[in-house]
Amino acid sequence: MKRAYLSIGTNIGEREKNLQDAVRMLIAHEAITVTAVSSIYETAAVGFTEQADFLNIALRLETTLSAQELLLVCQQVENDLGRVREFRWGPRIIDLDILLYNNETSNTETLIVPHPRMYERAFVLVPLKEIMPEKCDMLEGVQNAYQTFDIEKEGVKLWKTIATVDEFVPSEN
Ligand code: ATP
Ligand code: MG
Ligand code: MG
Repeated sequence: MKRAYLSIGTNIGEREKNLQDAVRMLIAHEAITVTAVSSIYETAAVGFTEQADFLNIALRLETTLSAQELLLVCQQVENDLGRVREFRWGPRIIDLDILLYNNETSNTETLIVPHPRMYERAFVLVPLKEIMPEKCDMLEGVQNAYQTFDIEKEGVKLWKTIATVDEFVPSEN
């Protein structure tokens, strides 16, 4: 089993539902077990700023998939939820990025892990830190990066507290 962390973001449509739909699809995948979901945070768009505010969460999972296979699943979820790629960093229904994969590095044309921009993004680090166990061997880099921020100034606002995966996406029985 490999452990991975994802960042999921949305700024179009019913944002909370988009996040829930994405998490449900990951849960439904036979080779993935979702083990933690962070609270939901709201952040003004960075980069291309003339767009609606984002909701972001971080998610922890265990999987038998390779990092490359996990990327394909993430892209399938994006497609199934109707993501249209207009321009980079533009508005999106859903974005699933692999942040970390089992303390491994990947540097291929389609997949870079750790995610190359994660350590400079407060909207990634704040939710991620919330769900990383103390003993996780991937924690140190995250903590170091986190300390370089004045989080108050980054405008990452707690939007809804989530304690468990079940609370976020109640199972249907
Ligand atoms: P950013 O990567 O800055 O968050 P983005 O998420 O909007 O931007 P996308 O349009 O979702 O970018 O993805 C562009 C490409 O990034 C994808 O085709 C994918 O192959 C590649 N990619 C590289 N590394 C990763 C990763 N760790 N997670 C997800 N996609 C990745
Ligand atoms: Mg992204
Ligand atoms: Mg992406």
